[in-house]
Amino acid sequence: MSVEPVSYDHMIACPQCDGLSTKPLLMEGQKAVCKRCGGKVMERKRDPIRRTLAVALAGLLLLLPATVLPLIGVSAVGLFNQASLLDCIAILIANDYHLIAVSLTIFTLAVPVIRLLAALYISWCIRTKRITPALVHFFRSYHQLDSWTMLHVFLLGIMVSMYKLVALAELSIGLGLVAFILLLICSTLVSVTLDKHYIWEQLENGCEQ
Ligand SMILES: [Zn+2]
Repeated sequence: MSVEPVSYDHMIACPQCDGLSTKPLLMEGQKAVCKRCGGKVMERKRDPIRRTLAVALAGLLLLLPATVLPLIGVSAVGLFNQASLLDCIAILIANDYHLIAVSLTIFTLAVPVIRLLAALYISWCIRTKRITPALVHFFRSYHQLDSWTMLHVFLLGIMVSMYKLVALAELSIGLGLVAFILLLICSTLVSVTLDKHYIWEQLENGCEQ
């Protein structure tokens, strides 16, 4: 007895209950929900490529002010001091806190910037129809980075340290902090604008041709 191989190409699994259903055909802005648990199975986002390109470019433009401009100014006993993100990393290295300096660089700069660059590259390739099998691997690796975004943890860290400092000294918020928060928001927004299902479809169609 031979068993027919089952094709799962037109099936989609519910991210919440793993229930399999047929992949729905959606228009831009439409959502499909799971029949079993009611969770969102798939969503067709509006204008995903152009919006992702815009958000990624905006985030990358904020990179320079976020690293070079002062984050917070502190004035206490008549003295005023301010430091940028690069100054913070340099001070940590100078004081032999190498592990903290490396972690700070990876989580605050490297990961958001790599995500923005990767999203920009993927959207640009899809827009200009430059689809190669290597891009499929690249997009798969991009998903791995999602678990490394620590936006909420860092924003919380900044809020807690500011709250503690307010009691000791007078604080002034630098333009660097504003740019840095906007950069992290752009890095997170990329997940909202980037339509994974749409990109996978484009990659599959592009590789088949
Ligand atoms: Zn479900």
